[in-house]
Amino acid sequence: RMPALAASAPTETHCPYCALQCGMALTAANGTNTVESSTGAGLVTVAPRDFPTNRGGLCQKGWTSASVLTAPGRLTRPLLRPHRAAPLRPVSWDVALGHVAHRLRQIQAAHGRDAIAVFGGGGLTNEKAYALGKFARVALGTSQVDYNGRFCMSSAAAAGIRAFGLDRGLPFPVTDLDGADAVVLVGANVAETMPPFTQHLRRAVDNGGLVVVDPRRTATAEQAALHLRPAPGTDLALALGMLHAAVADGHLDHAYITERTTGFDAAWRVAARWWPERAERVTGVAAADQRAAVRILAQAANAYVLTARGAEQHASGVDTASAWINLALALGLPGRVGSGFGCLTGQGNGQGGREHGQKADQLPGYRRIDDPEARAHVAAVWGVDPENLPGPGRSAYELLDSLGTDGGPRALLVFGSNPVVSAPRAGHVAERLAALDLLVVADVVLSETARAADVVLPVTQWAEEDGTLTNLEGRVLLRRRALDPPPGVRTDLDVLHGLAVRLGQPADRFPTDAETVFEELRRASAGGPADYSGVTWERLRAGEQLHWPVPSPGHPGTPRLFLDRFAHPDGRARFAAVDHRGPAEPPDAEYPLHATTGRVLQHYQSGAQTRRVAELVSAAPESFVEVHPDTAARAGLGDGELARVVSRRGSAVARVRHTPTIRQDTVFLPFHFGDDQRANLVTNPALDPTSRMPEFKVCAVRLEPLAGE
Ligand code: SF4
Repeated sequence: RMPALAASAPTETHCPYCALQCGMALTAANGTNTVESSTGAGLVTVAPRDFPTNRGGLCQKGWTSASVLTAPGRLTRPLLRPHRAAPLRPVSWDVALGHVAHRLRQIQAAHGRDAIAVFGGGGLTNEKAYALGKFARVALGTSQVDYNGRFCMSSAAAAGIRAFGLDRGLPFPVTDLDGADAVVLVGANVAETMPPFTQHLRRAVDNGGLVVVDPRRTATAEQAALHLRPAPGTDLALALGMLHAAVADGHLDHAYITERTTGFDAAWRVAARWWPERAERVTGVAAADQRAAVRILAQAANAYVLTARGAEQHASGVDTASAWINLALALGLPGRVGSGFGCLTGQGNGQGGREHGQKADQLPGYRRIDDPEARAHVAAVWGVDPENLPGPGRSAYELLDSLGTDGGPRALLVFGSNPVVSAPRAGHVAERLAALDLLVVADVVLSETARAADVVLPVTQWAEEDGTLTNLEGRVLLRRRALDPPPGVRTDLDVLHGLAVRLGQPADRFPTDAETVFEELRRASAGGPADYSGVTWERLRAGEQLHWPVPSPGHPGTPRLFLDRFAHPDGRARFAAVDHRGPAEPPDAEYPLHATTGRVLQHYQSGAQTRRVAELVSAAPESFVEVHPDTAARAGLGDGELARVVSRRGSAVARVRHTPTIRQDTVFLPFHFGDDQRANLVTNPALDPTSRMPEFKVCAVRLEPLAGE
């Protein structure tokens, strides 16, 4: 046990949820740093604090985040079921870890190293993400490791690397947006997903310079001077139409294109065929509005294009993000002070989570796993032979889809993720999990995925442990321990250590102290694209604001990337010649509507945390489907009635919400709810060929009244 904190000593830390990582202070109100009451109510208080991303603001999720620490159903003992038909029963840590290690050895002896898979999360701290990738590749020797960030940021990351040679969500501080006269937000509903972010758009809003691209009239779109409502899956065509307008209406920045980019001619050869009137026919966005949006961007002194999941979660997500980058490059925005292109990361450590080696194709430092130099460097830090490091493995959905199949993994370890709710074609994913010989889930509560596990390992959560995260602007943050975890739980680092030792690894190869892990991460990242070698916890404790790369201990960090040159060897950004492909599953007579998915203000990701917070549940208790009243009438659905949203893969139950502002051909479902309300029961796992990102944002559905309701 750590010594108790005084009630008067607030701990400065950060929100447990999204990538804005708002600054907050936690105070244990009972004068100790323990939460052992049966209700826990009132034991911890949250106060916002001044931090550049939130400047004293918090959203409803942040304000109520202390309730997650005391939420009912917190796991405090390992659970194990001896066979599939048996219920989960409490066991000791020794029994649980011993059982898991024994079964892992058995399965690998029978089926080979890749018979074990590991699935991580974009909410894990940098240290955990690093340790998890190392554990998979060194202690298990498996190539089968990926994480839920594949569902979140992989298309934006691939497009960023293609265009700029480096992927950092925002290559500038969030506060740079304060000076923006114009911002185009593509598929980003920041007013609900990260409300404090909207303060950085105030000038653009006041200036009549906010343009929102979204099939829905979201709370963010309400603030826009111009709301473009493309049909789901046509964002790429819209970007092509707008690039065409930029050329035709004389808005190109010719000097910038010549001096700082390559590939414009090839990109233009495609866009030349997408005159705005043609784009209007495909997208439904009026040609005049396309031209007006480009004019707003081009005439602003300071302008930004920002994308998020609405643009990226498509089977053509990389090309769609590239098309918006093309537009920004054509107008000369990226790599200039006061203007730019960026993508808004979603998960709390969505940025850091993709840099430290829990991704199937990457090693720490954001290095490629198929790069011999990178393998040699990381193997030396890990003290292993590079020849023994596995190569790239399956991407997240492909990994889940292969579980329990011939040649697929027989066991899965899940850390910080809830794929039964968050993966596309979720019913099928649950079936694949059920086909495993062993499913192990480390979590705070009995999530939907944990419920299906053979072994559940109860772990600490955000305010009960120290660790670093990297927010949406590449800023490395220290999230501090504010109170003791409940007796009986262990940190993920403890779990990995305990398993590694039982699998025959030297005890010091998997440290349990997060700062010690970070010291190793620094060395592993040194010289890589995401270089953390100059970041120390000491500097973070002292309040230094460090954006990577930070290549040496005296380096001040890099808040703004690309000001002099982009990260390609020639220093230039690259246009991409990309064309519209449309959704993988267009509507037809049987499934006549587009379904799109997204978030609501009160919930976060799979809802495993926020669905346990009473205030949030009472404000947003159940799933709903936004339907245009005319569409609802055709399906015989009144406002407030329960409906079944049916696709080729399954159906989800949702309460009908008549929404006159949504397109008549489109319905919207939030993806935070469990059981038969899971939006991902209907989503399409069609994958982007480059990023392997599933097409969460559009599939074909029909609506049916729920019988008996
Ligand atoms: Fe937390 Fe994000 Fe809300 Fe800030 S905006 S309080 S980081 S959920």
